Amino acid sequence: MTSLDVEVTISPGYAYERAADQEHFLNREKTRQLFRDFLGRGKGGKAWKFTNSPLFLDFLAGNRTYQCTPWSMPLRTVFGWQKPCYLVGEGYVQSFAELMEGTDWDQYGVGKYAKCSNCMVHCGFEGTAAREGLVRPLEFLKVGMKGVRTEGPMAPDIELAGARPADDVHEAQVAAEMEKIRVTDPEGYRRATRAA
Ligand code: SF4
Repeated sequence: MTSLDVEVTISPGYAYERAADQEHFLNREKTRQLFRDFLGRGKGGKAWKFTNSPLFLDFLAGNRTYQCTPWSMPLRTVFGWQKPCYLVGEGYVQSFAELMEGTDWDQYGVGKYAKCSNCMVHCGFEGTAAREGLVRPLEFLKVGMKGVRTEGPMAPDIELAGARPADDVHEAQVAAEMEKIRVTDPEGYRRATRAA
């Protein structure tokens, strides 16, 4: 791929629960090993260039135990600000202040909620890595200069057994938001439903 000068996106795991094929989503263990394999290939050979921060890559390779920071990459949709993050849609609010103050953040994250169990995605964890980089700049520099460790023991991961079960709220959320649009903006609603 690199010889063809083609850019490739490699995404860590997230179990998108409405996808028909659940079997092929990566769990945390497979994600960590996969990134070790990718990052290890660069050593002594032709390196793949990743655009993520060193500490986030170090986390993906299983060298750090991170909890997510879902508000670090917020998503604004046609329905409003999505709670709690752009992967999981469990409600919409009209302002960023409402998102920050009205979301029960403790309900979300690895080990807290089943939908989050396999998530290692940048929208939650790059923010955590960036915060660690600010608090521990020497760590950031060390990994940045030496590269990500791709051998040896991995950091312990968060226990998943206590995660609360997934709430199946997507259809009801979308229906409620569409109804609000139908009442407040009938013409917009007609356009949107005609296009769908
Ligand atoms: S772990 Fe964080 S970023 Fe990932 S789905 Fe859950 S809330 Fe969103």
